[in-house]
Amino acid sequence: MFIDSHVHLADPAFDDDRAEIVDRARAAGAIALVCVGESLDAARRAGDLAMRYPGFCHFTVGVHPHDAADFVADRDLAGIRAELARGAVAVGECGLDYHYDHSPRDRQREAFATQLAVAREYGRPVVVHTREAEADTRAMIVDAGHEGVRGVLHCFTGSHQLARAALDVGWYVSFSGIVTFRKWNDDELVRLVPEDRLLVESDAPYLAPVPHRGRRNEPSFVPRTIERVAGIRNMPVDAVAEVTTSNARRLFGLA
Ligand SMILES: [Zn+2]
Ligand SMILES: [Zn+2]
Repeated sequence: MFIDSHVHLADPAFDDDRAEIVDRARAAGAIALVCVGESLDAARRAGDLAMRYPGFCHFTVGVHPHDAADFVADRDLAGIRAELARGAVAVGECGLDYHYDHSPRDRQREAFATQLAVAREYGRPVVVHTREAEADTRAMIVDAGHEGVRGVLHCFTGSHQLARAALDVGWYVSFSGIVTFRKWNDDELVRLVPEDRLLVESDAPYLAPVPHRGRRNEPSFVPRTIERVAGIRNMPVDAVAEVTTSNARRLFGLA
């Protein structure tokens, strides 16, 4: 049994066989998928999936840092609020990506701050994408955390300091198939997250774990990541599946 805490199931990559992807996820032991809306458009489609698969697919709504330049709070907040009212379980993914810098950094910070504020207002958790933006991410999530906002650093590969800062304000850390890659070299990061803050995710269609690396990813591959995390932490595979499932339930408020 597991929960995929981050999958882009509304992505066009799944347009031809989405129903089979859901069937395979269930057959592999998934009991829920958190379908990420990384744009208002994606969130609407993810929300439709949540309606089609009630209790199994859940959805989030946010604007990805790559698209922050197009984020206009006066216009887009209404869309975010509408999806939260329709049952989105979290705000995001949002955050800061200074690796690609697809949007100017000040616009990224502005869009992220606005989304942290709306999460606080609605009492929902935040799904955070962060890459090479350690100091700003830390400052913003620590401030939000002190105001009661909870969230997850998704697909996390950043520094131990940033992980600790997030954990210190009650946040969670999620690992993807990256931990199965041959080039992965930070097992200590996987070990420093306490059992009750650990999540796993596919981030599909991206980042398929070994031995599927390079192919389109899907939620049914998450057990490969769970096995790797279990190996790194020297825990039984079932125990990792169990704690990550209950953590995802708690963070996202799933039944
Ligand atoms: Zn991301
Ligand atoms: Zn994502």
